[in-house]
Amino acid sequence: MTIDKPPLTLAALCARFEDNGPGREGIVPFEGRGVFHELAECLAAIMADFPPHEITAVAAGAAVESADAVDRLRALADEMVVLGAGPEEWDRATNIARVPWSEAGLADETGSLLAVLTEECGCLIALAREDTSGTESVERGFWTCVPEVIHEFLGNLGGCGLGAAASRPACGVNGPAGAGLRLGAKLMARQAAELSRQQRDARVDKDDLFSVLEILKAISAKRRSHDILYVFVEKIAEIIGIDRCSVVRMWTGSTLGHVLASHEDAKVHNLTIDLPKYPELLHTLCTGQKTVINDVATNPHTQEYAGELARAGLQSILVVPIVLHDENVGSLFLRAARRDTPFSTREVNFCEIVAEAAANALERAHLFESIQRANQRLEHLAITDGLTGLNNHRYFRERLDEEFGRSQRYRLPLSLLMLDIDNFKAINDTFGHLHGDSILRELAKRIRRTVRKSDIVARYGGEEFAVLLPQTGLDGARVEADRILRVVRNRPFAGLPHRKALTVSAGLAVLGHNKMKDAEALIRVADDALYRAKWAGKDKVVIGSLEGDA
Ligand code: GH3
Ligand code: MG
Ligand code: MG
Repeated sequence: MTIDKPPLTLAALCARFEDNGPGREGIVPFEGRGVFHELAECLAAIMADFPPHEITAVAAGAAVESADAVDRLRALADEMVVLGAGPEEWDRATNIARVPWSEAGLADETGSLLAVLTEECGCLIALAREDTSGTESVERGFWTCVPEVIHEFLGNLGGCGLGAAASRPACGVNGPAGAGLRLGAKLMARQAAELSRQQRDARVDKDDLFSVLEILKAISAKRRSHDILYVFVEKIAEIIGIDRCSVVRMWTGSTLGHVLASHEDAKVHNLTIDLPKYPELLHTLCTGQKTVINDVATNPHTQEYAGELARAGLQSILVVPIVLHDENVGSLFLRAARRDTPFSTREVNFCEIVAEAAANALERAHLFESIQRANQRLEHLAITDGLTGLNNHRYFRERLDEEFGRSQRYRLPLSLLMLDIDNFKAINDTFGHLHGDSILRELAKRIRRTVRKSDIVARYGGEEFAVLLPQTGLDGARVEADRILRVVRNRPFAGLPHRKALTVSAGLAVLGHNKMKDAEALIRVADDALYRAKWAGKDKVVIGSLEGDA
């Protein structure tokens, strides 16, 4: 019983030859994009140098179909054996011998091969597979000019008319005029050039990667969005050499833009610019795509402003969007302008990558800043009296303890003034509670304006206020208390009848360093004095005392 062998794949066949160990010297593996086509070009060019030939060529696979070089080889060849379909134009060619994949014992696949055999030399290029697993597809295969290898390879495809091709002598380096040697040398030179190019590209990529990392490191060290933007423009300008580099914010529909950061001046924060003078910015805002202008004088967007740009010494401009997800912050753009050299593709790509990284950092910073603002608002609310906007009781007590401790430690003077509106209940009863509220607000405003910046004013309770006067002794506090009473008494309050003056009473306490153990004592003295001011007929300042205080 005979069992049909499953057809061999070109990849499996190539795998047998890829190992260029003992007995397989002269097999040159390759890897890259478009290598097969380039080698085919090289081969066709070399073959054209050797007329007249008795060339037999073998071609197979998808890569072969689209290669002009293969068609040129076909034109040179006496016979072209084609595995699989091949291009339609070849139907009219007289030197074509078509062989189905199956007859060659091969499974139909996307791999390619090209062999050229003459009496003088021979060459085989086999593309085993196209690896598309990475981000870019990569071809892997090998080429050789070694006749034994070529014969062995083609022998595997025997029994389908290839036998004749395979039996044609491919005498390689031993052929007349060293044709095989020249062929091999040329192909090898091409491979070496490709390798150098790849290494050069890899070096450039590596340099760019380091630059991107350097910028990312500098950006991540910053928390505030302005610092991020400044580092961003500063580093881009430094790394790729730019004369003007800035980040501009724009809003759709507005003719004004704002420069948020400029590498020329770290202090530039929100500089307003007239957008119609920056057509490249408007164009990018409109399209959402980058704009690359390599000569402002000839580019249709900038032609109108070419004179101005020339005076500024600028020739090329690049605008790259910095895409943020939060639309509330407007649209941000990197604008880079240079005196001479145009922007290369590499530089444009570099700016785009960095702009994306900056966008991420900015979003983080915005989030951080909005949390910070919310915290500050909450903190402010927690220490503020809702009606008057003054400090609240809780905050006042904290500050009082602090100031008390400091004044005791350094033997500094400290005074406390307690104020209470006279007959406020009657005012409420007569004019209404809402009116009472607006009087409280107005009074708070007057007190705040009358005291010094360093004094701490608080709403102590209902219609009671406290003023803490650090580094102020009796005389200074007395003057300030009188001034407050005057600004309340002498200027009418909105909504109160003219002759109905509002008055407040005040109790003043001055820190006695030796007698007062804690801030409570200071409050008690001020409270007591306030009580006595009420008893004494109101609208007065009474100075409190602790008996025996030094
Ligand atoms: P005195 O001169 O002895 O201080 O008399 P008074 O009427 O001011 O004192 P009393 O303690 O009898 O009344 C205080 C009033 O202050 C009673 C209360 O309705 C009013 N009050 C306290 N807090 C507020 C407030 O937030 N808004 C308003 N409109 N009134 C308030
Ligand atoms: Mg009261
Ligand atoms: Mg009162």
